[in-house]
Amino acid sequence: MSDTSDLVDGKWQRLPPVPEGMSKSQWKKQWRRQMYEAKKEEYAEVRKEKRKRAKENRRKKIQEYIDRGEEVPAELKREPRVNRDQVASGINIILDCAFDDLMNDKEIVSTSNQITRAYSANRRASQYANITVTSFNKRLKERFDKALDDCNYPQWQNFKFVSDEKLITEGDKSKMVYLTADTEEQLDTLEPGMTYIVGGIVDKNRHKLLCYNKAKELGIPTRRLPIGEYIKIEGRKVLTTTHVIQLMLKYCESRDWKESFESVIPSRKLDPVKEKEQQQQQQQQ
Ligand code: SAH
Repeated sequence: MSDTSDLVDGKWQRLPPVPEGMSKSQWKKQWRRQMYEAKKEEYAEVRKEKRKRAKENRRKKIQEYIDRGEEVPAELKREPRVNRDQVASGINIILDCAFDDLMNDKEIVSTSNQITRAYSANRRASQYANITVTSFNKRLKERFDKALDDCNYPQWQNFKFVSDEKLITEGDKSKMVYLTADTEEQLDTLEPGMTYIVGGIVDKNRHKLLCYNKAKELGIPTRRLPIGEYIKIEGRKVLTTTHVIQLMLKYCESRDWKESFESVIPSRKLDPVKEKEQQQQQQQQ
């Protein structure tokens, strides 16, 4: 494959001559972006079609089971998107998104995906939390307003977006806990009426102690999740924003950290020793 070509619609296209004053790699990057922009809507249409076909196939398969009078297998069933029987857990969660400047474009995209996943977890939970995204005022907001505008985020239930961070800086500190992996003090339980702050940042741990230092400066107590107590996770115990929120929602339902960790964290992360043993066994077979 020559490096002067680019894949567009399954066909390799030649890279036009490099404009003066630009390096080849810069030009290649820009050219790819232009190509992508030009074809964006077409690509979205193709993805939509693909999703539609997958949905139709699933429906067809389910119908076949029903017609044969057999039980529909669990993997074909979906959890309902909205849990209509949910009740308030009484806990508040703040997603502190004041770290926009510390992320690259890819990380902003990841953070926006984490927020949408947190929203959908909250819609499905049997006990929902009141979630607020603070400092929603820069690139993250731009991402929601432009690329994710069809998700209708201003209308989300139990999920608010505010541009400032007064809730954190001016709130009652005795009713707040900042969650961070960087403290020794452990979070034992979740209490109604309390506000739990989670950092809304994807940084591959470049910015160590970021949230811990922010909480200390503001005089907000910090706690880490009781991971080590219940689950063996190898290495660093820094989880993603979505996992932390999913864990809290599960805990509201089960009041059991172990059960919550086991249902939210991928099993390969839970016990790497066991996983290695399993892999070795499979290789021997
Ligand atoms: N470098 C960032 C890490 C971001 S991880 C930092 O300074 O915190 C995203 C967020 O999830 C964190 O800000 C924290 O609020 C929460 N989090 C991740 N792992 C955690 C743990 N083990 N205990 C408590 N909170 C955790």
